[in-house]
Amino acid sequence: MSDHPEWCAQGHRCGLGEHRAHPITLNAPGAGHVVLTRVRAANGREHAEVRLTVALAAAEPLARRQLMALVNDLDTVLSRAAHLRAA
Ligand SMILES: [Zn+2]
Repeated sequence: MSDHPEWCAQGHRCGLGEHRAHPITLNAPGAGHVVLTRVRAANGREHAEVRLTVALAAAEPLARRQLMALVNDLDTVLSRAAHLRAA
């Protein structure tokens, strides 16, 4: 495999035709963290892989509100990405 993109981390991170960058991690201690990785799939298309962990409240009504807020926030993220892609 010799045609890694310049951002590829190489080594064990790529294989089976897929290339992956070093992940970027954002931490909010006690609240959660995000790990974002740039990926070029075997078919040549690229995407950002995002793994998000959010701490939820122990009390059920609050946890559900947190989840609904999270869904709304993620919808905003996806909508913005779609808008930028169309621009
Ligand atoms: Zn690679």
